Amino acid sequence: MAREKKITPMMQQYYEVRKTLPPNTLLLFRLGDFYEMFHEDAEVGAQVLGITLTKRSDYKMAGIPFHAAEQYIGKVLAANMKVAICEQVETPQAGKLVKRALTRILTPGTTIEDNQLNAQRNHYLAAIEYDKSGFSLAWIDLSTGEFRIAHDSKPDDLLPVLVSIDPAELLLIEGTQESWQKQSHNNPVFEELIHFANSRSTSEQPSFQFDCDSGAQAVMETLGVINLEGFGIEKTHDALGCAGALLHYARETLRAEPKNLSSIREYSAKASLLIDPATLRNLEIFKSTRGLREGSLIDAINGCKTAAGARLLEQWLIAPERSIPELQRRLDSVEQFFRNPMGATELQATLKSVRDIKRILSRMQNRLRNPRELGGVRDTLLQIPELKSTISEVASSSPQAGSAVPADRPTSPLDQLLDRLHELPALTELLDRALKEELPSKLDDGGYIATGYDPELDRMLSLTTDNKVWLTELEAAERERTGIKNLKVKYNGAFGYFIEVTKSNLSLVPENYIRKQTTVNAERFITEDLKAKEKEIFHAEENSKRREEELFLGLIEAVLEESVALTQTAEALAELDVFCGWAEIARRWDYCKPELNDSDVLDIEQGRHPVVEQMLRKDSQGLAGSHAFVPNSIGISASNNQIHLITGPNMAGKSTFIRQVALITLMAQVGCWVPASAAKIGIVDRIFSRVGASDDLARGNSTFMVEMNETANILNNATENSLIILDEIGRGTSTYDGLSIAWSVIEHLHRDPETGPKTLFATHYQELTQLDKHLGRLENYSVAVKEWNDDIVFVRQVVKGAADRSYGIQVARLAGLPTPVIDRAKEILERLESDDASVTVSSPTPIPVAKPRKKIKVEKDENQLGLF
Ligand code: ADP
Repeated sequence: MAREKKITPMMQQYYEVRKTLPPNTLLLFRLGDFYEMFHEDAEVGAQVLGITLTKRSDYKMAGIPFHAAEQYIGKVLAANMKVAICEQVETPQAGKLVKRALTRILTPGTTIEDNQLNAQRNHYLAAIEYDKSGFSLAWIDLSTGEFRIAHDSKPDDLLPVLVSIDPAELLLIEGTQESWQKQSHNNPVFEELIHFANSRSTSEQPSFQFDCDSGAQAVMETLGVINLEGFGIEKTHDALGCAGALLHYARETLRAEPKNLSSIREYSAKASLLIDPATLRNLEIFKSTRGLREGSLIDAINGCKTAAGARLLEQWLIAPERSIPELQRRLDSVEQFFRNPMGATELQATLKSVRDIKRILSRMQNRLRNPRELGGVRDTLLQIPELKSTISEVASSSPQAGSAVPADRPTSPLDQLLDRLHELPALTELLDRALKEELPSKLDDGGYIATGYDPELDRMLSLTTDNKVWLTELEAAERERTGIKNLKVKYNGAFGYFIEVTKSNLSLVPENYIRKQTTVNAERFITEDLKAKEKEIFHAEENSKRREEELFLGLIEAVLEESVALTQTAEALAELDVFCGWAEIARRWDYCKPELNDSDVLDIEQGRHPVVEQMLRKDSQGLAGSHAFVPNSIGISASNNQIHLITGPNMAGKSTFIRQVALITLMAQVGCWVPASAAKIGIVDRIFSRVGASDDLARGNSTFMVEMNETANILNNATENSLIILDEIGRGTSTYDGLSIAWSVIEHLHRDPETGPKTLFATHYQELTQLDKHLGRLENYSVAVKEWNDDIVFVRQVVKGAADRSYGIQVARLAGLPTPVIDRAKEILERLESDDASVTVSSPTPIPVAKPRKKIKVEKDENQLGLF
């Protein structure tokens, strides 16, 4: 009570705002030129931002200058916290408490400010609901207007897309995380979800915000429609509750309706090639195992020149397709540019001066507006006619190099793209006429409307110019009149215009000068006339600024009226960028256009690993011919030779080979050309992998547990249309356990008499190679090595038939193990291979060996195989 008495009206205002905020939020409270934080916010803020904490008698505070706020806000968001901004919303008057209001809450998933976003990536806010009816998901990118929902009874089917979109922020129903924790014991789905929620900013919301009916209502209101049929979505769709929660949160944080949402789309797991989270990591699709973009597939196939293109590429990789017509459209478009390199280069050069229209539009629609971004719309529109004529040329060039163009050529996929590029001549002309060439990034700076666009503004500006001339003339006249040679008319923020006279000339100051201020060397005066003129000047400046802003808003309106056409144009430009980039990569790296079909066959000739190939070339710069990637082929079919068992020494290239088959398949199913001399790809529904011994200790699991979880997932979810790559399965346990598990996994995959998932199985268990005698669809392959004296040379060639030896000791020598250790290992190996139970050579005490290696007995007459 005692403390309450001391609260000033301003602090009262502060507490009113503070108490409305969600947890984990710092309140930036505008005080003049600063944003101040108080109490706990000040402590946390000072720590996160590295600024000084000031202790007052009854509270702590810390502040940042308002003009540098953006970079500080970025730091807070990066720490997965939120920032609420409370602004002064009226001009301060002496002696009166200025009105303040909460204008914006910035959170990791709802920022739309340019410098808080990665231009190359979408920035998603996602909501998840997981109940008896299944798994519901909605995600939104407020900076571009993308809005998606998905529902599936099986969470496994939606995890791939959830992990791939990698949202910056996650919304859950109250109590969700606790309930996941309870169910997580040995359940990989919940473990994945918990890890997912922990690794980003996650907020729990009351369950009513996830209500499906109100969600449907909110979505319809936001999109301005009376039903969702136009988007192919039922009003009762299970994920509309999640969509509603997103909209509610967006409204709360923007402190206004999000204005840039005009459509919603359903993601269907059934229409996509699904890649489970472990495989996304193993195949290094979005980042390398070191967590970097460099070394990932997306980095190797990104030839985009624009940020929007790079984002589209990521979206396509997030949801690889199963629809052959859509993929064919992409492959054919790439072909057009592939065959017309001049056209592609020209187009890419023009694309470099195209601006990020989708993000600019989203900001304009949500009240973040500045002259420079408006200029970006103009600059982009000015490029469209040239872009269109280049595309028409490319589209009309023959797909068959060298042959003549038929008069009635069939429409190419680029023709459809041309239809989506809108020139908008009236808007282009308007912006071109209205805006100056160089534009400021801040509205307050003024001076962005071109001379000649608006007579009224021109008149106001000429008044200002006239007044400035008047001031110069005044200076000359006063010098003349008073005889003070160095008399100056000056301006500063505190006094406005004044006349400055140095101390030595004070005796010459005339009567009508009114003294205002004394400085070290001079005195400052005003006159009645000067003050009257000053008023006129201020008035004219204010008027011209207001007029400029009015005109600016008019131009924004004109742009927003064309937002549908502009969005379509921006999307078409992004596609063009991806296609041109892919064509360039295809030429540079000698890729081929894959043939897609719905057979159960993958037939790849002379395939290469897209990432390893590029790395080898980079490493060997200047060393012609050395370290070139050795291509390998594969022909695998679910009904014929379903399982390829691949043996060969460590380091021979087994993992690289099986990964390259998976990556080539994925690339074909996003519509990209592939690193091979020819490829026929029967569309697959899922790609699974169990690769390497990537351990997961951070999540509290042993390597073996992770391996078995991943294997269980594969066995439970693979269909005959899936592709599985398995590497060294069973390695995390004792030899016999491991071998037995590997063996029975293969049998399980082969259990159907007709068909099964296409499987590449790399192993060091020689024993498994005998399985081909009993499993009709299993074939042995090996990665060849050459023996030379006692050394081996890797030739990286995959050949038919099993490897005869594992060459472990030779590989160990290559790795630099000391010679005595190698020699000793050879002795031990010889003994073991001759079934000698103990090894005593050159050791003072015999080294006991647990168990000699035994041969596997294969009982040939029976269907069931006898183990050992
Ligand atoms: P394994 O799985 O048999 O132990 P890896 O696939 O890990 O072997 O390959 C080992 C190394 O050999 C890789 O890091 C890569 O640099 C190189 N390599 C693999 N395959 C090829 C190839 N086809 N051409 C050239 N180098 C290769």
